[in-house]
Amino acid sequence: MQDYYSEQIYSTLSSIFGFHSFRPHQEEIVQAILNGRDVFAVMPTGGGKSLCYQLPARLMDGVCIVVSPLISLMKDQVDAARINGLSAGTLNSTISVDERKAIGVALRENRLDLLYISPERFNSEYFIERLKTLKIAFFAIDEAHCISEWGHDFRPDYLALSKIVHEFPGIPVTVFTATATSRVANDITARLNLRNPFLIRASFNRPNLFYRVMMKQNIDEQLRSFLAGHRGESGIIYRNSRKKVEATAEILQLHGISARAYHAGMSDADRHAAQEAFSRDECLIIVATIAFGMGIDKSNVRFVIHADLPKNIEGYYQETGRAGRDGEPAECLLFFGRQDIAQQLRFVDEIEAETARNIAKEQLRQMIRLAEQNHCRRAALLKYFGEIFPDKNCNGCDVCVDTQKQEDATIPAQKVLSAIYRTKETFGAIHLTDILVGANTEKIRQFQHDRLPTYGAGKDKPKHYWRAVIEALIVQKIIVVDDLLRPVPRLTDEAWLILRSQKKFQMKKLPEYYLEKAQVSQIPIAKIPVNEVRPFSELLFAKLREIRTEFARAENVPPYIVFSDRTLHEIARYFPRNAEEFQQIQGVGQHKYAAYGQQFLEVVNEFCEQYPEEVKRRQYRQPFETSQKISTQSTQSTDTTHSTQSYQSSTFIETYRLLQQGKTIDEIVTERRLMRGTIITHLEKLSESGLELSVDQFFVPERLAQIKEWFQKSGETFFLKLKPAVEISEGKLDYDEARLARIFLRKSSAMNNQ
Ligand code: ADP
Ligand code: MG
Repeated sequence: MQDYYSEQIYSTLSSIFGFHSFRPHQEEIVQAILNGRDVFAVMPTGGGKSLCYQLPARLMDGVCIVVSPLISLMKDQVDAARINGLSAGTLNSTISVDERKAIGVALRENRLDLLYISPERFNSEYFIERLKTLKIAFFAIDEAHCISEWGHDFRPDYLALSKIVHEFPGIPVTVFTATATSRVANDITARLNLRNPFLIRASFNRPNLFYRVMMKQNIDEQLRSFLAGHRGESGIIYRNSRKKVEATAEILQLHGISARAYHAGMSDADRHAAQEAFSRDECLIIVATIAFGMGIDKSNVRFVIHADLPKNIEGYYQETGRAGRDGEPAECLLFFGRQDIAQQLRFVDEIEAETARNIAKEQLRQMIRLAEQNHCRRAALLKYFGEIFPDKNCNGCDVCVDTQKQEDATIPAQKVLSAIYRTKETFGAIHLTDILVGANTEKIRQFQHDRLPTYGAGKDKPKHYWRAVIEALIVQKIIVVDDLLRPVPRLTDEAWLILRSQKKFQMKKLPEYYLEKAQVSQIPIAKIPVNEVRPFSELLFAKLREIRTEFARAENVPPYIVFSDRTLHEIARYFPRNAEEFQQIQGVGQHKYAAYGQQFLEVVNEFCEQYPEEVKRRQYRQPFETSQKISTQSTQSTDTTHSTQSYQSSTFIETYRLLQQGKTIDEIVTERRLMRGTIITHLEKLSESGLELSVDQFFVPERLAQIKEWFQKSGETFFLKLKPAVEISEGKLDYDEARLARIFLRKSSAMNNQ
């Protein structure tokens, strides 16, 4: 067995991934894998599971076989690995013949770090036999809970994985999941036959997430109001039915918000398109049922909203967990209204088996308690997973940061209590509110409640004020609902004391807008205070985001893969001005530096000249050991990062050299571990610099003629813009090919004009 030293592990962490330290448990897992053990790791979403297998895959001899559930997401996973300079590939139906060949060669020559495949492949004898001819370092099974019928994403295909240990007895198997229940965990270990695995169960606390619950009123207005305060940010809005998903998406669109719907009733293609647009920041908001989620690695989701009551805490936790994977502050907002309980209850009542139904009811009760309670939400969430949160104040939920003063509300409380008493403790909050404000509803007429002395006694205040008073009375247990699922409040002894003016009632002072008959749309939803305030220049961040999008378009990958929000925030905080400073930024590995460093530095430098005022915001920190960043191991043939200029030119030359050997673009992509888009950029630069590229190496004449026609038809006779040609081709031409063709089309048109 090879010996791996911490030094080697750390230098890879910084040179490949651009990180200065491990997240909790990553290092132990990496060590265990390097020592050849089976591993079973339960880590929350955003915990950094990919790095746990990618880093050892880079160091070990042989390929790491990664099993990942969704073919549609594999391209992103492979691209994300490649962009860090790992040699990665996939063998599935979505890749081109050329790419398949290139991967085959890389595999035979033992040059691949990671091979992503889908679980059903293990049903094929032929495939297994083929795998046996390769040098495999270890297996990594991602989203491993899919193998368990007790999990929420059971996938029959995953059952095929139980063969692995038997078929590949000498090779370690490592599994990763974010699903925490012990039932699922036991199921996974048993089904996969793991051999004395190294077990890790990380804390489920997500310190960068802020949890907040608000009273649900007019939800569409509330959503718009929230979004108005979060322009430009990406987020998910969960609704509990397809109809509501579509309705909400439509309303938001009508108001000019780039939102799209996602639910299981849509066609595969439509769902894929929505997800792709979201992942690429082309639409910022996705309105979805809980069908949306698994395996979506988008790291810059800045908020997750539950516009309806979730059915249990487990689901709520998983869904909110999709926010802030990059570790930057993100918000989880739940709109809670007791009117939603009845609907959830209807879903639950449809469950046929009695035990399952009762479990579901109890889970719903727990969820309601979490939404209504007046103590730390983080502590309550963690308690559900058997963890104790040690701090008194988490500083990251609405309850803990609430500084609203208490004020006397005895008289309003008496009005509510009297209404409950006079209606014989048989009505819920909505009807009670109607009585207080003197509404003219069918139900009021039916029960002749307009004759009650309390009818209209609260006319001077809006409905949402009375709902808040009722909530406060429930939370303080002045009135009780015997069953949370059928919330009909009943008076306690305490309530009688208040009714008889023998005791006072205090509640949190409500913001002004509760008292006026304000339009709900005018209700401001303030930005939340965050745990750890890490300021940055918003203006620079916006510019960085723009060039990130440009790179992402050119390389045909989602923007967060180019650089995470966290990386851009750091740039906008520390204003790196040269290569060395830039490489101190989190998430900037050697490879990314080589690909994007220069242009990002230019943006920062230009920005500093243009906005000297903003530069005053620049923060400083202790530099990290640069020796760690500039790795001792060369990741590729060109390893000098001191002079970007020489690095850049030599990287083009390297591409040129390979081309001259007759290699195809796909072969160069695999060999050089660069993105296709990057290689095409190299070709553009090489051509601009006057080097002769042979068109025959890339196109048969008919194809080039066809592409030329698309350009001309779209009005691009000078071959400037790509988009019109790509659009007019109706899916037959992609950006990469268009860009490649443009190199030659421009050359020939220039010659014709001479
Ligand atoms: P998971 O699969 O556990 O949900 P990912 O592997 O997708 O998490 O990682 C989530 C995010 O955390 C990614 O943006 C990744 O780059 C980042 N990350 C992982 N490890 C570290 C680390 N040691 N330091 C900083 N960021 C990290
Ligand atoms: Mg993951």
